[in-house]
Amino acid sequence: MSETKTAEPAPEITSKDFKGKVDPDWCPGCGDFSVLKSVQVALVDLGLRPHEVVTISGIGCSSNFPGYFNAYGMHTLHGRSLAVATGVKMANHEITVICTGGDGDGYGIGGNHFTHISRRNVDLTYLVMNNQIYGLTTGQISPTSDLGMKTKSTPHGNIEKPLNPLTQAIMNGATYVARGYAGDQKHLQMLIKDAIQHRGFSLIDIFSPCVTFNHDNDYAFFRPRVRKLEDEGHNAEDWKAACEKALMWGDEIYTGKFFQVQRPTLGDQEPVLEEGGPIGHRSIAITDEQAEAVIKPMM
Ligand code: SF4
Repeated sequence: MSETKTAEPAPEITSKDFKGKVDPDWCPGCGDFSVLKSVQVALVDLGLRPHEVVTISGIGCSSNFPGYFNAYGMHTLHGRSLAVATGVKMANHEITVICTGGDGDGYGIGGNHFTHISRRNVDLTYLVMNNQIYGLTTGQISPTSDLGMKTKSTPHGNIEKPLNPLTQAIMNGATYVARGYAGDQKHLQMLIKDAIQHRGFSLIDIFSPCVTFNHDNDYAFFRPRVRKLEDEGHNAEDWKAACEKALMWGDEIYTGKFFQVQRPTLGDQEPVLEEGGPIGHRSIAITDEQAEAVIKPMM
């Protein structure tokens, strides 16, 4: 009598499984290292595997993220990661989509997409490594730079009022809005896990100090100021309280989950996705000849 073979249990996964083939070339001490590690640990805790995840970025120091990460990945155009990610999520609504980038890429160059992804409620997680400066181009003001900040592009001090990504996302319809700090990795891991589990568009704005070009908003600045909303019994369903807390900037700056609400995602409202599995896995319903007739004139 032949022995019945039992399926091998799937090997246990560790954060090393999400480590890319290339080591980051970020400056020693850059906050982005902490974010990279936090995402790896969060995905292990959630039981996800590299083939179930895609990371998508624009351009900037932090946007090199997909190259340092083992999963599906796309390094797209400056400010366009959210547009590409929307397409990826609609083509394969079963994959976990994580967008990574910086404040210049996401809130400046890609500000338009940031507005519209919030109102569309696309089911993905957006991690913005906010260092309040353009780091890759060696230090110019970004949309989140403090007033008065002196940089190469503002030798007499920044005169442009910074935007607040949290209130902007809440007002535009985002259904999960949080803020993390690279100097508190455990808290950041918890937020990332929570955001990935949320169904809908989730933003985590992360203070991720640029130790080379922003000497105003470094670890010494944040360490004594950062307060956790969780310690204050904040109600994340209260958008008014969320906005009030998000606007606080000075001796006390809040991190944690500011706002969460449930409403249908873009995918939930798209009838094409209702049955038949992800579009990317379906066969295209035209013959090779028909496809050639469409494509040939464009070649
Ligand atoms: Fe990080 Fe700034 Fe160095 Fe870029 S320039 S890697 S943001 S510390």
